[in-house]
Amino acid sequence: EIITPYQQEDVFPGEMRIVLRNCGVIDPEDIKQYIGQDGYKSLGTVLTELSQEEVINMVDESGLRGRGGAGFPAGLKWKFTNQAEGDEKYVVANADEGEPGTSKDRLIMEGDPHSLLEAMAIAGYAVGANTGYIYIRGEYQLAVSRLQTAIEQAEEMGLLGENIFDSGFDFKIKIREGAGAYVCGEETALLQSIEGERGEPQVKPPYPPNEGLWGKPTLINNVETLANIPVIMEKGAEWFSEIGTESCTGTKVFTVSGDVEKEGLIEVPMGTTLREIVEGFGGGIANGKEFKVAQTGGTSGGCIPKDLMDTPMDYDSLAEVGATLGSGALLIMDETHCIIDVAKCFMHFFEHESCGKCLPCREGNTRMYEILDRISKGEGVLADLNKLQDLADVMSNSALCGLGQAAPTPIMTTLNHFKDEYLAHITAKVCPTEVCKDLTVE
Ligand code: NAD
Repeated sequence: EIITPYQQEDVFPGEMRIVLRNCGVIDPEDIKQYIGQDGYKSLGTVLTELSQEEVINMVDESGLRGRGGAGFPAGLKWKFTNQAEGDEKYVVANADEGEPGTSKDRLIMEGDPHSLLEAMAIAGYAVGANTGYIYIRGEYQLAVSRLQTAIEQAEEMGLLGENIFDSGFDFKIKIREGAGAYVCGEETALLQSIEGERGEPQVKPPYPPNEGLWGKPTLINNVETLANIPVIMEKGAEWFSEIGTESCTGTKVFTVSGDVEKEGLIEVPMGTTLREIVEGFGGGIANGKEFKVAQTGGTSGGCIPKDLMDTPMDYDSLAEVGATLGSGALLIMDETHCIIDVAKCFMHFFEHESCGKCLPCREGNTRMYEILDRISKGEGVLADLNKLQDLADVMSNSALCGLGQAAPTPIMTTLNHFKDEYLAHITAKVCPTEVCKDLTVE
């Protein structure tokens, strides 16, 4: 899938750019251009004027929540890591952006690599770590090379390495490339992978702030979360907390793709509605078709039907309608898509990506896929709907990690909002959109 390259002239009237502020503005391979935009100024201020506690309090008071998808308060994570006992600590940037339909972190790293490095150094100072790792999708080779160049340039200028800003603080950053497993974006699997082990999730707790990389306290944040940090340090927690909604502050980068006139990335205040994004930035549904459904958070979010288009896009408002904001992917589908076919496609993805370590995920995804496949072929029975519900309950309650826990969400939200379409396939043996061509009517 090709996502429209981010271009500065594409600024949409409702946009507010914090993490994408430099993308398309500076040459990402020239550190001087980043410095020209006040880059590394926040790191200088932090290292020379602020205590660890003051930095953590700023992150906390900003209200910044994790942009990887879960929305956990960033300040709390920083505090836990700072308070954890350990002779050595680590900062890890989760750049293993695996969620289908998401390319925000790629664009941040390709367009503004230094903002990630600066943020990691600030985080390192705040939590007491001297080493940072960027765990990046192996497919993101342009981002890897730009980050590598950025690290070398920052080291040459003394902005990474030893005694940064003459403060006595040392910080170095290493890059580790993933090998294409979706599950390695899950933080405990990711840490295993950095350690050279098979990338499989581990039981939590302990959480990484207490026991992370090589058993040491580790702060692990998503790229977009980190890219906010230099700006929060520069403009203040209060400034940031006034953007967005009361409980979900700041902006969110959405990767909009599918049946809209215009696909691409957009950064808007948290709480911007789905309608504003689809009809404003997206230019409406392409080819004069009707909006049918939006899938939030890539495969692991949930679906939003037409009558919920005025739902604000933030963690809490989406939770109220049974979906999740997740990584900010927005897959927009028009009326021609069959909801069973869509659900089957998601389940096929999870079946393929399940690492197989825990039974609920390994078996659950396969069984759910089989049921959806049967329904799409006109071989479903009403009892299948209860079976889907039972499997979803078991998986969300007992799968080892977020992959298995979240996998049923897109299926169950399609069932909640489009039950008639399921029933049409099961009882009338009809696919209303005529997508399921092999549906048997005998
Ligand atoms: P989670 O709720 O288990 O944890 C979220 C974060 O909060 C983790 O870093 C965790 O360590 C921390 N945390 C939670 N409770 C804690 C505690 N008591 N003490 C210390 N830290 C604590 O969720 P998760 O499984 O890490 O992530 C799920 C999310 O990932 C979903 O929202 C999904 O949409 C998203 N996701 C994103 C991508 C992507 O490409 N960005 C891919 C797949 C899934």
